[in-house]
Amino acid sequence: MTTCLDDWLRVARARIDVRDAQVLAAHVLDCDRAGLIARGRDALDAARLAQMDGLLERRAAGEPVAYLVGRREFYGLDLAVAPGVLIPRPETELLVDLALERIRHLPAPRVLDAGTGSGAIALAIKAQCPQARVMALDRSECALAIARDNARRFGLEVDFVASDWLDAVGAHEFDCIVSNPPYIRAADPHLGLGDLRFEPVSALASGADGLDALRSLCTSAPMRLGAGGWMLCEHGYDQAPAVRALMSGAGLADVASWRDIAGIERVSGGMRRQVPADGRARI
Ligand code: GLN
Repeated sequence: MTTCLDDWLRVARARIDVRDAQVLAAHVLDCDRAGLIARGRDALDAARLAQMDGLLERRAAGEPVAYLVGRREFYGLDLAVAPGVLIPRPETELLVDLALERIRHLPAPRVLDAGTGSGAIALAIKAQCPQARVMALDRSECALAIARDNARRFGLEVDFVASDWLDAVGAHEFDCIVSNPPYIRAADPHLGLGDLRFEPVSALASGADGLDALRSLCTSAPMRLGAGGWMLCEHGYDQAPAVRALMSGAGLADVASWRDIAGIERVSGGMRRQVPADGRARI
């Protein structure tokens, strides 16, 4: 008996989210969702059917759709993603918006993305603000390979550097430093649920209170900002007061937090007011 696409979708939607089933089918059949409707009654060949069944099993076992199809859209970019990098989240687009607001008017803004993963934030900023000079750091070579591949596919020029946070940045100074660091508490039960089970824990968890990476960034980043430069970091739903305190304690001015599309304080930032007369950072 032959199976057509509509038969397969009927079986699949009983086990996984219908939207996920459509995304997996469209991936194997190399079409969009409209294409699925047009091909609903076509018989599936054995090879494609086996591939779709394989993906269905893996999705039913919890693997994230983004890893199964190797793609996730972020800020209009169809990014390649793989298990070595965090899957970009829609709420992180707020961080890109806030960075763009602060650099768009500059003729050649210098931007640093610390812990770039797939390159999502750095590439979105470069795509929207082509005059920016963007450096992006990650300590994972696997992440850097994925990020460089994304940059190549989009024809975007970003300087990807292997660095444990800002350790390898050298003497550079920036107009904007952005980061979506790991910020989940090490013992948080959410790490054992949903997509998070399959993502690199180094991109998710950061010490007992989730703030280890943010503390480290607030120690090393402010001194790399030029006068008027901004530091902007994503953080957890209940961490805004702690992150604002870290940023104020590091000498940043105009420290504030901004809410994401769900109404949660998701990004905090502050500005470096001035650089001392000798030009050396003292923060
Ligand atoms: N916001 C993500 C989550 O809770 C975590 C991303 C991160 O740690 N930077 O699923």
